[in-house]
Amino acid sequence: MEILGCKIIKKGLGNDNNIAITFDDGPHPKYTPMILEILEKKGVRGTFFNSGFNISRNKELTREVAERGHLIGNHFFNHRNALFTGRETLNYEVMHTKETIENITGRPCNYLRPPYGIISPSLLSICKMSDISVVLWNLNTFDYRRKSYAQIIERVLKKGMRPGSILLFHECNYKDDSLDFSNTIKALQIILDIMFSKSIKPVTVQELLEDKP
Ligand SMILES: [Zn+2]
Repeated sequence: MEILGCKIIKKGLGNDNNIAITFDDGPHPKYTPMILEILEKKGVRGTFFNSGFNISRNKELTREVAERGHLIGNHFFNHRNALFTGRETLNYEVMHTKETIENITGRPCNYLRPPYGIISPSLLSICKMSDISVVLWNLNTFDYRRKSYAQIIERVLKKGMRPGSILLFHECNYKDDSLDFSNTIKALQIILDIMFSKSIKPVTVQELLEDKP
């Protein structure tokens, strides 16, 4: 879908029986390595929409995520709401984070997920100018408010286990570093096994979008 000349993606075509797994708000010194270990063990590559602020505190970890073949996307610097942010600040949120990611990974960073999934005309215009695609999701696991990992799995099974889906998980909470995300970790392992049992291939957002019609 295109709005004001900017590409907005909520899901892929799924022709290749694939699903993109995405993680927001990190990197986080405790949970990101745990996620990396699971993905490595299962031979899966994911997409991490990182906060510029959290990257600046975890540069080595960010580099490691990229070196392991995962895709790093832009999730603003300070997790602002695009609707309540002036154009100049918004430009900083987007461009400073993009540059930070590109400097660390040495790769172009052209995918952005705005915090809360909120877009505004200014944001779309900034993205259009820099050829950045906005990536939303079609299934929010709501992992940050689930009381058990079983609830996360149930939600994904009911609504997200379809080819072309973009699943939204979190590595941490941008506001509160101490929040517990062990349910996400537990659920992720089981969800990946279920995907494999259904011959669904977990891929990065970039790979999901390479599907031919
Ligand atoms: Zn976020």
